[in-house]
Amino acid sequence: MLIDIGPLLRGEVSKIDIDYKLRADSIGGIEFSEDAHVKGSLTDNAGYMRLSLSADIPYTTECARCLAPVSGVFSLDFERTVANEGVLTEEQLEEGVDEYVVVSSNELDVDEQLREEILLCFPQKILCSDDCPGLCPKCGKPKREGACGCPEKEIDPRLAVLKNFFNDEK
Ligand SMILES: [Zn+2]
Ligand SMILES: [Zn+2]
Repeated sequence: MLIDIGPLLRGEVSKIDIDYKLRADSIGGIEFSEDAHVKGSLTDNAGYMRLSLSADIPYTTECARCLAPVSGVFSLDFERTVANEGVLTEEQLEEGVDEYVVVSSNELDVDEQLREEILLCFPQKILCSDDCPGLCPKCGKPKREGACGCPEKEIDPRLAVLKNFFNDEK
């Protein structure tokens, strides 16, 4: 959502409330199963603006071990300092661009801030359960579904020679 920050920049208001639904979408391979309710505010902070946002985002993805579908709710809660381009000095612009969300027009793209935060904070690996046994490395069947009949341990052929050697010794 784009919010018009003009009234805040002109000092007409000191706070803009944010309350909307982020359309279900996919971001970086994460599928969002439902629209997310986004709440927050943008407040004037002596020349700078403070954006605070929170959102609960229902998602679906794959278990990193067994590829089973996993769904859950990812909660975000973060703040950003927003500065109008005109307020920052050349130096600040060069050095600290990462620290600020710099806006050059009277609009702030809230979705973009959410998207960045999601990419930054969404767990790299999501498991269907902490003790997910994963897939059989031989046949690819999920181990949770029971034995697939593959031998539990593969003996390295080089070690097998040694094993026979020791067995012969006995
Ligand atoms: Zn799993
Ligand atoms: Zn198997």
